[in-house]
Amino acid sequence: MSEVIEILRRLHRILVQQADIRSQLERGPRMVKIAQTHYETAVADELAHRELIKKTRMDADRKQLQLREREAKIFSVEGKMNMCKTDREFQALKDQIAADTQANAVLSDEILEMLETIDTLVAATPDFELRCKQNKAEAEKVAANTEARRVSLEADLARITEDLAATEARLDGDLAGTYRRLVALRHEEALAVLEGNSCGGCNTSLSPRTIDRLLMREPVVCTSCGCLIYPPEGR
Ligand SMILES: [Zn+2]
Repeated sequence: MSEVIEILRRLHRILVQQADIRSQLERGPRMVKIAQTHYETAVADELAHRELIKKTRMDADRKQLQLREREAKIFSVEGKMNMCKTDREFQALKDQIAADTQANAVLSDEILEMLETIDTLVAATPDFELRCKQNKAEAEKVAANTEARRVSLEADLARITEDLAATEARLDGDLAGTYRRLVALRHEEALAVLEGNSCGGCNTSLSPRTIDRLLMREPVVCTSCGCLIYPPEGR
C-alpha cells in the first residue's frame, strides 16, 4: 500500500502543477487584451483631444467673423448718423451703437477666453502623444513576453502531462477506476491530503476508523466531499 500512497501524492502534485500551468496559459491572452485596450483607449483619447482643439478653433473663428460683421454694422450706423434729420433719429442710432459696442465687448472676451483654451489644449497634446506611445510599447512588450511564456509553459505542460500519464499507469485495480472517475470530474481537486484529523479537501473531521485506515496507508474516499484522501508524508 505504501507505494500506492507515494503514487497518489505524486499524482496530486502533478495535477496541481498542471492546473497552475493551464491557468497561467489562460491568463496570458487576458493580459495581452488588457494592454491592447489601454493602448486603444489612449489612441481614442488623443483623437478626441485633437477633435476638441479643431472644434474650439472653428467656434473661435465663427465668433471672430461675427465680431467683424458687427463692427462693420457699427461703422455703417455711424455713417447714417451724419445724415440724421431729427435728434430723435440721431439718439436712436447712438443707442444702437452703444448696445452693439457692448455686445462686441462681450464677444471679444469670449473669443479671448477661447484662444486661451486652445493654447492650453495645444500645450497638453504632447502628453496625449506620449501616453499613446508608452501604451503601444507596453502592449507590444506584454504580447512578446506572453508569447515567449506560452511557448515555455506549453513545453512544461507537455512534459507534465506525459509524467502524469506514466504515473497514472502505475495505479491498478479498483483504485485506478476510482481515481479516473474522480479526476475526470474534479481534476486536481479529486485528491486531498489528510490534514490533522480532517479531510484536506473539505475540512470535515474524519472518524477514528477512517484515520486508522489512512495511517495504515490505505487511501479513503471522503464521505463528505467525495475526494480521495491520502496520508501526509511522515505520518
Ligand atoms: Zn472531504
